[in-house]
Amino acid sequence: MLDFKLFKIPVRVEPWFWLTGFFLGGGLGITSREDFLIVILWIVVLFVSILIHEFGHALTSRKMTGVTPSIKLWGMGGLAYPNTQLTQKQSFWVTWAGPLAGLVFFGLIVLTCCLIYGFSVGTDLTIYLLFFNAEIYRETYVVLREMDAPVRDMLKSLLWVNLWWSLMNLLPVFPLDGGQIYASIERSPKKVWIVGMVTGALVAIAAFFILHKLFIAILFGYFAFQNYKRLEHLKGHSH
Ligand SMILES: [Zn+2]
Repeated sequence: MLDFKLFKIPVRVEPWFWLTGFFLGGGLGITSREDFLIVILWIVVLFVSILIHEFGHALTSRKMTGVTPSIKLWGMGGLAYPNTQLTQKQSFWVTWAGPLAGLVFFGLIVLTCCLIYGFSVGTDLTIYLLFFNAEIYRETYVVLREMDAPVRDMLKSLLWVNLWWSLMNLLPVFPLDGGQIYASIERSPKKVWIVGMVTGALVAIAAFFILHKLFIAILFGYFAFQNYKRLEHLKGHSH
């Protein structure tokens, strides 16, 4: 257990957080010192990125309610507790602030790359690392080749986590932020669960068959199932 305070907001990191990060980062496949460094840097990226996301929620929550929130990082990511009842409008903005913080951080990383390598190489590098676009400038190729593998990996995961995860988090699938935003503006809970179930299932199928990302497929399959269960629960009550 790791407890600390940042911006006067208490943060608790459970051991499961480090362990999940270790497995997700390919900790079981370590065969060299460089592999080990790559996994450690990945855990740092995960820690910093999730913390920024949660601080987006927490700082907005404190600003809107005046109550000190708290943050927990656990096996499935992060949670920000407002420690008070939010109104629908407050909840709407507090939820948005997490993915937005991630996207702003993503922008800052791209900006830093542009400041270091120049605008064209900086953006080219970003696009290459995000989309595996094979066609890159000669200068970008040189920059990539001269970069140490752990640094290149870290930059890639920083860009990946803060762009793709932030966008993925905005999908209208409960309990993701997007699902909570949708739930805060949609009057019919039935619609929220149906949209969550269908979107979750589609993402799971696409992740499995097109992207070949087993972890994302399992995660969204699980979300789809949760939404299905809530829908069933709703039906049970209306009988
Ligand atoms: Zn969030």
